[in-house]
Amino acid sequence: MQNAQEKPSAQTSVVSACTVTDCKFNEAHECHAGQIEVRVGPDGAHCGTYTPEASQRPRP
Ligand code: SF4
Repeated sequence: MQNAQEKPSAQTSVVSACTVTDCKFNEAHECHAGQIEVRVGPDGAHCGTYTPEASQRPRP
């Protein structure tokens, strides 16, 4: 049987505030992913939906 703490879960996002400002889903410290995955590892829980914004944006 799989350890419940290692099992990723997905649910409708109820994140009220997020400090990961380099995530593409973060707008003014609010998560707009709609759904996130929380993963738990040896170093604690972290967001599995985190997606860094593209560092190389085309210049206007
Ligand atoms: S996807 Fe995760 S890291 Fe990105 S804004 Fe939402 S909660 Fe924060």
